[in-house]
Amino acid sequence: MTSAPVPPTAPAALDAEALRADFPILGERVNGERLVYLDSGATSQKPQAVIDAEVAFLTRANSAVHRGAHTLAAEATELFEDARTTVAGFVGARPEQLVWTSGATAGINLVAYAIGNASVGRGAPASARFALRPGDEIVVTETEHHANLIPWQELAARTGAVLRHIPVRDDGTLDLEAATALIGERTRVVAFTHVSNVLGIVNPVSELVALAQAVGAVTVLDACQSAPHLPLDLPALGVDLAVFSGHKMLGPYGVGGLYGRADVLEALPPFLTGGSMITTVTLDEAQYLAPPQRFEAGTQPVSQAIALAAAVRYLDGLGMEAVHAHEKALEARLGEGLRALPGIRLLGDAPGADRVGLWAFDVDGVHAHDVGQFLDARGVAVRVGHHCAQPLHRRFGLTATVRASTSVYNTADDVDVFLDALSGVRSFFG
Ligand code: PLP
Repeated sequence: MTSAPVPPTAPAALDAEALRADFPILGERVNGERLVYLDSGATSQKPQAVIDAEVAFLTRANSAVHRGAHTLAAEATELFEDARTTVAGFVGARPEQLVWTSGATAGINLVAYAIGNASVGRGAPASARFALRPGDEIVVTETEHHANLIPWQELAARTGAVLRHIPVRDDGTLDLEAATALIGERTRVVAFTHVSNVLGIVNPVSELVALAQAVGAVTVLDACQSAPHLPLDLPALGVDLAVFSGHKMLGPYGVGGLYGRADVLEALPPFLTGGSMITTVTLDEAQYLAPPQRFEAGTQPVSQAIALAAAVRYLDGLGMEAVHAHEKALEARLGEGLRALPGIRLLGDAPGADRVGLWAFDVDGVHAHDVGQFLDARGVAVRVGHHCAQPLHRRFGLTATVRASTSVYNTADDVDVFLDALSGVRSFFG
């Protein structure tokens, strides 16, 4: 049988079975079983190239960056700044548009505190555009991870601004009609996730950006659950600021990125202050460096940034179109299998929705933690609980769900092992 010709635009298919060998941990056995790792939404596994990059830096080039006249310091600085160029390029940005953070939570807090500083008159005159006054509004969605909710609650409490939220419909999609009514004259910030870590649905970024831009509000995108799974061009999406997390995209812990439009970063006052972010300091005041260094006070996650660059080179080597296509196929197989099992309620099962490989669900009559332990005994790792999204769970009348989430190294066989194990849960706890 001859196969149909592949159209020239189709991404080269990703051979997940072959690339599993790049991830040493996938060779481990858990509870005597082959590890089926379906918890990449929490943290991804790391290919050997990432582990090697961090070890190589620490073994051969470790030194403090940006200061010091010695050879190792120069080499470390070059590797660190090259990493910035590589990771910025991965999201379509220029190096000066990428601020290193310790992760997405740190990035969102940086932005919220910087806006808070602008609100009390700190920063250059241009910072006034970010200032919040009592009664101004910050808009988030009902689907946010706590990392993109609590910093805004805190900012509202500090400034007298009002926090409002875009509701989610029963099918897991955002209510854009409500968003249109909600985003208005008083809206100063619109912060929302690209992909919910519970629903897996890709949100309509351009519609939300258009609504925010029409009223001059700043947009902040949480790209934690999209950056590892989709081709991402942040400038093309039109958002002002965006965060992503290294450990979810095959990189190490302790590093993430804050992307900003050049004029936005230029006008934002810093959050953390101290060494490495200044030009001149007197006993009374300090002048700050331009972005991105203005936002990088103190010692940076150097070895982690270099390893994150190795991670995005790995993803780029696979091709993000191919990654997306692969994970969409897994997502479809997972969704189909889950729908076929009795007693399973999927969250966010909107027909035709654009999704990544992530499904959260409730098992009728069995607590999520019991499901997780049952699966673990069979070598299947999933996440259980509220996934740092309590308001969203409350919206669906739940306190906890089970979540299966994929990455490049998952195979159709992983999905089938998971579904087969899950099919025994209800009778076991019956
Ligand atoms: N936002 C979303 C959507 C997430 O899924 C997560 C992690 O679970 C975070 C933010 C927090 O990311 P980090 O671990 O980098 O702080």
